[in-house]
Amino acid sequence: MGLTAIVVGGSVLGLGTALALADAGHRVLVLERSPETLPSDVDEAAQWHRPTVPQGLQSHAFASLGCNLLRDRARDVYDGLLAIGAREINLADTPPPTLDGFERVPADDDLRMVLTRRSTFELVLRSRVLARPGVTVRTGATVRGLVVDGGRVVGVRLEDGETVSGDIIVDATGRKTAADTWLAEAGSPAREVVSESCRIVYYTRYYKRLSPVPPGPLNRGFGAGGLWDHYTAVLFLGDNDTFSISFGVLPEDTALKSLREEAAFTAAVRATPLLAGWVAPGNSEPISPVYSMGGLDNSLRTPSRVPGFFAVGDSVCTTNPSYGRGVSLGLRHAYVLADLLASHPVVDAAQAEEFAARSEALVRPWYEEAVANDRGRAGLWEATVQGRAPMRPPAGMVTFGTAVAAASKDAEVWRRVANVMMMLREPRELYADEEIRGRVGKALAGGPPPQLPGAGRETMLAAVRGVPVG
Ligand SMILES: Cc1cc2nc3c(=O)[nH]c(=O)nc-3n(C[C@H](O)[C@H](O)[C@H](O)COP(=O)(O)OP(=O)(O)OC[C@H]3O[C@@H](n4cnc5c(N)ncnc54)[C@H](O)[C@@H]3O)c2cc1C
Repeated sequence: MGLTAIVVGGSVLGLGTALALADAGHRVLVLERSPETLPSDVDEAAQWHRPTVPQGLQSHAFASLGCNLLRDRARDVYDGLLAIGAREINLADTPPPTLDGFERVPADDDLRMVLTRRSTFELVLRSRVLARPGVTVRTGATVRGLVVDGGRVVGVRLEDGETVSGDIIVDATGRKTAADTWLAEAGSPAREVVSESCRIVYYTRYYKRLSPVPPGPLNRGFGAGGLWDHYTAVLFLGDNDTFSISFGVLPEDTALKSLREEAAFTAAVRATPLLAGWVAPGNSEPISPVYSMGGLDNSLRTPSRVPGFFAVGDSVCTTNPSYGRGVSLGLRHAYVLADLLASHPVVDAAQAEEFAARSEALVRPWYEEAVANDRGRAGLWEATVQGRAPMRPPAGMVTFGTAVAAASKDAEVWRRVANVMMMLREPRELYADEEIRGRVGKALAGGPPPQLPGAGRETMLAAVRGVPVG
């Protein structure tokens, strides 16, 4: 007989946790504060504006780690996505054209991704979770505290004072979690939180493709994109002939704040040669306004060691969305919990300690990589915006930028970059691997490969101001 689990938060990773626990034989009650009803189809889901989940409106790519987990452990969700208009791709089917003699190896099969909007992903996930007999989702239920008995968490207290009991409580309330307060009120030791701004603001707009074939190059498998000297722009292919384009700029780059305006957004896409064709007349039509989102941090909480209390998803760790990791990391974490409960079903201090150790091992490398990469990228952008020459990384150091540049010339570097980006291998296997270091050095010895066509600073500023570029 399984445990009774209360999952607090019914967004993507609360649902993912419910999925993992229910399939392991536990009864799950999901408590979600939003009083929402389930959208009935993908179009209605795309209009699903939940104030507590603003990132639900932003572009999402689903890394291979998460896609493979669903395919292997929750096949109905995976198949449900494909049935509703999402598409499976494999990154090894489209290696960079500059790689001579690229040969696929069996392990490349794992580099699969499912192309879908986040709203469609969550629609399918939620309907499949609700179809599981052991799961109940209660909406309009806001948790305000924990119920503790004998040093163990045994329930939650809702806003109206009602208490709900469970064998374990899982915090999936996202990056604004109040669980530190709940734990403190319950007399539990504080968790350490480290955080550092990602130094990026997002602007995203969705489109329906009208052209029968992709109206521009696809250099990323899941879409197209580039990282230039003061901005990034990425096109994400979605389900049902949709796509979205997201710009990322420095929060203090006031000149580009106008990207939140539809006209400036379109002008910026047109100024970016890699993406311009996608918004040319007749090739697509916009299906949303521009959604902006800032205040983004890389953050990490040390795990709680209180028996009966577990945390997953953004409530534990957030990383720069550009890396597209949050959902996969959270799903992996949910299955780590499910597997732990299988091997160690007794709710006690040893179980909490083991979960803490497994959580740290899973999450910390991704947090540290995101912080290091963001410092490098933000330094470059800041120098460009301020008109200074950027600092270059020390010679011989493998950075995200040098690895990506070398990946267009060396198949083994490409494969390693792809595996780390898709979270199938850990960051140290890219940045601290002697063989990769040597290969990156060799690939870049003759100078960096030509940049993908983006917009220089002056061109971009002129475009968003509506000034014709001379
Ligand atoms: C701009 C942007 C782009 C992103 N792009 C990607 C991407 O491409 N790929 C990717 O994998 N990840 C991406 N992410 C990250 C991803 O969106 C998050 O990792 C994910 O949404 C976190 O899910 P969650 O369930 O942990 O938290 P959330 O989605 O924040 O959900 C928390 C839920 O808890 C509920 N809640 C909060 N407090 C309470 C309470 N007291 N009681 C009851 N319910 C409560 C909320 O209402 C909400 O429903 C992106 C993030 C951002 C910001």
